[in-house]
Amino acid sequence: PVTSVGAPILPGATLGVMGGGQLGRMFVQAAQSMGYFTVVLDPDASSPAGLVSHYHLLADYLDAAALAQLAQRCDAITTEFENVPAPALRQLAAQRRVSPDADAVAIAQDRAREKAHFVACGVPCAPHAVIETAAQLAAVSEALLPGILKTARLGYDGKGQIRVTTRAELAAAWAELGNAPCVLEKMLALKAECSVIVARGLDGAMVHFPVQRNLHQGGILAVTEVYEENVSPALARSAVEATESIANGLQYVGVMCVEFFVLQDDSLVVNEMAPRPHNSGHYTIDACDLSQFDLQLRTLTGLPLVAPRQHSPAIMLNLLGDLWFPSGDEAVAPPWRELLALPGAHLHLYGKQQARRGRKMGHLTITGASVAQARATAQQAARQLG
Ligand code: ADP
Ligand code: MG
Repeated sequence: PVTSVGAPILPGATLGVMGGGQLGRMFVQAAQSMGYFTVVLDPDASSPAGLVSHYHLLADYLDAAALAQLAQRCDAITTEFENVPAPALRQLAAQRRVSPDADAVAIAQDRAREKAHFVACGVPCAPHAVIETAAQLAAVSEALLPGILKTARLGYDGKGQIRVTTRAELAAAWAELGNAPCVLEKMLALKAECSVIVARGLDGAMVHFPVQRNLHQGGILAVTEVYEENVSPALARSAVEATESIANGLQYVGVMCVEFFVLQDDSLVVNEMAPRPHNSGHYTIDACDLSQFDLQLRTLTGLPLVAPRQHSPAIMLNLLGDLWFPSGDEAVAPPWRELLALPGAHLHLYGKQQARRGRKMGHLTITGASVAQARATAQQAARQLG
């Protein structure tokens, strides 16, 4: 990991991104607006970030020649999704500043290691058991049922998860997941879900965004609401403190999001961490004076980490591909004209050619002069979206 606080990498330099999804696209847009040049490495010719980047290396993440080229062309390199292979980041880090670093990414890629890190940081997570062998499956405590069986690696947006209530269902679910290494988590009764995004610099200094309240549907983030009245000060304080100790424990450099469950008694349980900007932080583009992508840029380049300020209440609605199919199988775009007639509506689309159910196509952030106004507008937008 990079520990020395070198000279900042100033506008005009070239920055690389491993991954070409929407998070990479919004990073590229933030970097370009400050005069940086960008290179995206992604195997998809029409990736959201590749489409807007100055340069696009069309290659697999483990393509050694492409990685060498990325390192050669860029002054620093970041990532936009957590499944970038850690060895690729290690190869790049031998030549260039890379954040987040491979070790932090490797931990976040593995639910079992991730939970061990939370425990080591003294932050409570859901009761769970690691299942890698038939013996571990047989030894699972009854107290973890009903539960959710999650693959240790490569899950996202609720994929790679099966809800189970009995031992027989658990055994069947493990077989269905190909007997892959898994974590069984006790199903908790959630009162709410929230997340915190921090940015940690090369010198260990940290700034954070306000606590975000998240609503998931079918395992996918649907709505994020951010305004002061939404979370009690005590809860907000402990969520921020927990996030900071999780980032500190990794000597993390970059933007990190930690997701939490709020239980019925208002206690906080950590769910997972993302070593990158997060869907629940997209509202920061329109509702804060610095976005999560601006802070990713600042941590990567070593520019000043100024604490961000939210200047408007915000409600973000994810635009999933399902919205393109209100009736039948033919894709129809949502009513953009009507949506954009709403005051404080900010439309972000990721340039994905094909709408598919469950696919994140874009998001709509509603800002307003007051919470009541933002809520009323968001309700109107939701009605228009059907
Ligand atoms: P992903 O990596 O796909 O985001 P998560 O582990 O965050 O997977 O789970 C997705 C959603 O499923 C969570 O945001 C939450 O709504 C629900 N969920 C996950 N684990 C639990 C649990 N132990 N108890 C209750 N709900 C859960
Ligand atoms: Mg999640």
